[in-house]
Amino acid sequence: MANDTYEEAIEGLKKLLSEKNELEEVAAAKVRQLTAELAGAAEKPAFDPVERIRTGFEHFKKENYEKNPELYGALAKGQSPKFLVFACSDSRVCPSHVLNFQPGEAFMVRNIASMVPPFDQKKYSGMGAAIEYAVIHLKVENILVIGHSCCGGIKGLMSIPDDGTTQSDFIEEWVNICKVAKAKVKTECNTLDFTEQCTQLEKEAVNVSLGNLLTYPYVREAVVKNAISLRGAHYDFVKGTFEHWNLDYNLSPSVSL
Ligand SMILES: [Zn+2]
Repeated sequence: MANDTYEEAIEGLKKLLSEKNELEEVAAAKVRQLTAELAGAAEKPAFDPVERIRTGFEHFKKENYEKNPELYGALAKGQSPKFLVFACSDSRVCPSHVLNFQPGEAFMVRNIASMVPPFDQKKYSGMGAAIEYAVIHLKVENILVIGHSCCGGIKGLMSIPDDGTTQSDFIEEWVNICKVAKAKVKTECNTLDFTEQCTQLEKEAVNVSLGNLLTYPYVREAVVKNAISLRGAHYDFVKGTFEHWNLDYNLSPSVSL
């Protein structure tokens, strides 16, 4: 953004907010923040999103697409992924990078804190559609739910006050899907500090999601028939580890990599 546009924005904001006396301090703080951002922006080369997209695809096409005609030829005819993967929307945890999934290998759902909501045709139709399609039409054999370190969604869940008051339009309502896991961690891990409790909740929330998967009749049926296995995982990008476990968490030893 050009400097004069920034300045106009700052002036506009100052005017708007100072019209309300009680917001003067808020306005002053916001102006200080914007001014600092402006100073920072002047030092960095401008980021060009169009150029980033262009070079990104060019690289993929040259290094991947054109070198694997067999793979992309087969994918043009259809997909039969072995995995349905739930992962967080966090930009640091893309399963294709972390687990080296190639195109066609994993049908993927990414959302805040990689949560699977319970079967609910009105509230969670987006999630339900993905699960229904993956299980009934693609006949995936594995469902993998991956939690991760430093998850903002989990921190958000952990930070919701006990009286349940929320401040966001969607985020807190969404992460509350795993409030049972939060209650468990608060009771069982009350000697741990906040950060350690969050780490614990990153894993416990995965278990709630695995349980919620069983509220979908076709998932339950496939699990009973041994046609699908459900697995939980926790990717720690601070330590560089990937821990994973079966649905029966307490019975199966987890495996760390
Ligand atoms: Zn996350």
